[in-house]
Amino acid sequence: MDELTIPAMLRRAEHYSPDRPVVSREPDRSLHHTTWGEIGRRARRLSSALLGLGLTPGARVATLCWSHRQHLELYFAAPLAGLALHPLNPRLHVDDLAYIATHAGDEILVLDEGFLPIYEQIRDATPFRQVIVIGSATGDAIGYEDLLAGGDPDWQPGPIDEHSTALVGFTSGTTGRPKGVEVSHRAVALHGLSTALQGWLGISDTDVLLPVVPMYHALAWGWPYTAALLGAEIVLPGPFLDPESLLELFDSERVTLTGGVPTIWMGVLRILDTNPARFDLSAMRAILSGGSTAPASMITGYGERHRLNLVHTWGMSELMMGTIAGLSADLHQAPHQEQLRHRLKQGRPMPFVEIRARSEDSGFAPWDGESMGELEIRGPWVATEYLDSPEASAEQWTDDGWFRTGDIVTIAPGGYIEIADRAKDVVKSGGEWISTPTLEGALMAHPAVAEAAVIGVGDERWGERPLAVVAFHPGSSATAEELREFMAPRMARWWLPERIEIVETLPKTAVGKFDKVALRRRFTAPIGAGS
Ligand code: AMP
Repeated sequence: MDELTIPAMLRRAEHYSPDRPVVSREPDRSLHHTTWGEIGRRARRLSSALLGLGLTPGARVATLCWSHRQHLELYFAAPLAGLALHPLNPRLHVDDLAYIATHAGDEILVLDEGFLPIYEQIRDATPFRQVIVIGSATGDAIGYEDLLAGGDPDWQPGPIDEHSTALVGFTSGTTGRPKGVEVSHRAVALHGLSTALQGWLGISDTDVLLPVVPMYHALAWGWPYTAALLGAEIVLPGPFLDPESLLELFDSERVTLTGGVPTIWMGVLRILDTNPARFDLSAMRAILSGGSTAPASMITGYGERHRLNLVHTWGMSELMMGTIAGLSADLHQAPHQEQLRHRLKQGRPMPFVEIRARSEDSGFAPWDGESMGELEIRGPWVATEYLDSPEASAEQWTDDGWFRTGDIVTIAPGGYIEIADRAKDVVKSGGEWISTPTLEGALMAHPAVAEAAVIGVGDERWGERPLAVVAFHPGSSATAEELREFMAPRMARWWLPERIEIVETLPKTAVGKFDKVALRRRFTAPIGAGS
């Protein structure tokens, strides 16, 4: 079958929305304006040029790029030609990058000129047979525009099996080596359709989308394809992901829908709080937050102080987006507090996605909003195995084909999931679970606290106890005792951390989450408590 494919999605943009804008921030910060029609023409020409390099169907094209128009062209050009696009995350350690590119069998690398120093560090350990540079190329590398100019402007894609691979991605590898997943054309098409439905993100050609999550991350993969399918305008922020630059774009481009990780939205909220009138965000209808738990104080801060709708979503590299915290029909007339209680959860599974929570006795937790279990999930865009890793695959998928997410959740009536913790992050104290995101949310609600992460540390009596690591806003501070008093009304007394360590800033992973592995390395030694 060749109907649910990326070529079919691009055809819609070219035929029905050729004049809809594509805006991209250039390295010099200027804004480049083009259209979906032009992106389509250039993507097809680029496809023929890639095939001209001798690539055969199924070959992998790696990218090392920020979010910009050329990356958008590549998102289409590779799958149109029956090739798989493999976006690499430039923030990964070079050893991981070399491992991933080798493991995926990447043949071509297209990279931003600014990432050449990274390439220099991995070139001897990687299998690329051709390197293409967006910017000025030297040596054996080819310039992106030169490659494109050599392509056939009239090239059209042939039939593509919708089950064939369009994208290759890797998990962020916080435990062991990163593991690869393949995403089919069909998965991309159904994921796009499902997210766009009314009642979910309700995307149409009147929307202006700005994915803040960089295009090399799985949580961004859906945006360009969904935008093409529906003819929505897309705005790509280039390397400028700081809150000020993003706010400028939201304002000037009248952005209606955006998505990013909570650490970004905390920075944006700080600027909005300092000067609420500086940016006009009146066009914005939803700000999606995913990747880690959005603290309740942040969601209510956007809503109550700025009338902005911060929508919690949950996803993974193995499945792109899985749940969205919209309100079901029965909650539309519910009291505000009841609605809020549901909006603070990670949301309901999108149409076609199925969920269940496996409890410790190997039954399934009831959907009562209280019983905890490990979330298992399946659906048309949920991966079914890891690339060349039968052992890891056997561990992560059940015999009846459900993916074990490693997230400990409760499921409330109506299918609202709430992530209590990552299985490996949850603190088990005296045989009971303590949810680290709950502690982090309570700490981050304190006005002096900018960032907070909680890890479990060994304890002779209780097995494990929570340890909080906190960074304050510039010029603010609080004592450990004040913080504990502040948290006390919000949780059971035995959840309160005895140790609270103060740091300048918290370490982050390559995708902007708090790096708990680094925190454990630094704080698990039983040194004198900082509290
Ligand atoms: P990755 O594959 O690197 O995107 O990481 C996926 C993991 O991020 C999930 O298994 C969750 O533990 C976590 N995650 C993603 N979205 C959320 C969210 N909205 N709230 C809490 N955790 C999240």
